[in-house]
Amino acid sequence: DPATGKFTVPFIEGDGVGPEISESVKKIFSAAKVPIEWVPCDVGPIFVNGQTTIPEPAVELINKHLIALKGPLATPIGKGHRSLNLTLRKTFNLFANVRPARSIPNYKSTYENVDLVLIRENTEGEYSGIEHVITPGVIQSIKLITREATERVVRYAFEYTQAIGRPRLLVIHKSTIQRMADGLFVKVAEELASEYPDIKLETEIIDKSILNVVSKPELYSDAVSVCPNLYGDILSDLNSGLSAGSLGLTPSANIGDKVSIFEAVHGSAPDIAGQNKANPTALLLSSVMMLKHMGLDEHANKIENAVLTTIASGSENRTADLSGTASTSSFTEEVIQRL
Ligand code: NAD
Repeated sequence: DPATGKFTVPFIEGDGVGPEISESVKKIFSAAKVPIEWVPCDVGPIFVNGQTTIPEPAVELINKHLIALKGPLATPIGKGHRSLNLTLRKTFNLFANVRPARSIPNYKSTYENVDLVLIRENTEGEYSGIEHVITPGVIQSIKLITREATERVVRYAFEYTQAIGRPRLLVIHKSTIQRMADGLFVKVAEELASEYPDIKLETEIIDKSILNVVSKPELYSDAVSVCPNLYGDILSDLNSGLSAGSLGLTPSANIGDKVSIFEAVHGSAPDIAGQNKANPTALLLSSVMMLKHMGLDEHANKIENAVLTTIASGSENRTADLSGTASTSSFTEEVIQRL
């Protein structure tokens, strides 16, 4: 808004612990004087012809602002309900899922110095939803790889690698077996490489990547990885496990051709909802990714540093998921003190 100099951002607070961790983000943004005005956005699902759909006003709001921050959404239990997360991905054509996984300084987990960035193709591959019975006891499930979707995600991966200043882009694949499908994914990346002469393109078979990343994660600290959908799904959780030992700290970005949605990786945590126990870090770090995407790097760095130094300061300032004694609100206050 040129009149106020503020950005307007739709905020989907989500279910379960969503409102509590969203409150933490809003308080910290306000204390850090981030020039953002939040607009509440309710994506509460409606069902049209048995399909999960997002209400039109929410779709319009997000299309207008091009960006949204999102808390966790609970998937209604019952037959035929497609997850709302998948619905959001389809509605806004969010083709790339960006998942950084970094060790938290001074917080001891199994590994130290993990600094991984993975970009997962988010629209096709094994998630195309094309499965059928050929004859009883024989199922065919189709993995779809198209040049168009591959080029889109790989191009984004080159751009992201350049933007964060890493020298290498690594394509993770299994083209030794999926010769045509993964073969095309690798070929498209090799074709695009000539447009990015300052980035070194490398390819690696997924089994080798997994062995390397669990034995020497630091081998990947100077790279961004990109891969087809299912490999990305599995590898991104592996990376989170290596960096923090939990998903509770992991942020993510869902990038589309127009709209981008930033969200914590974890779910609605119904077991601790409403108890002031949830760790807001994953949503906070997602909001930090959003600020960087918007070019508000100074605010992003200030908030990121305050969150990380709060966690590093000791167990009295960590929430229960990190074996600490802090509540959501006391953690939030500590972050605000450190801004
Ligand atoms: P979950 O991530 O909600 O919970 C798994 C465990 O992690 C629980 O013990 C929970 O207490 C803990 N946890 C999660 N987030 C935490 C936080 N911020 N602080 C402290 N502890 C935290 O996974 P689930 O139980 O499998 O799923 C619950 C609901 O969330 C389901 O309806 C599922 O569909 C939905 N879900 C949504 C998303 C999303 O919106 N992106 C992702 C995963 C699951």
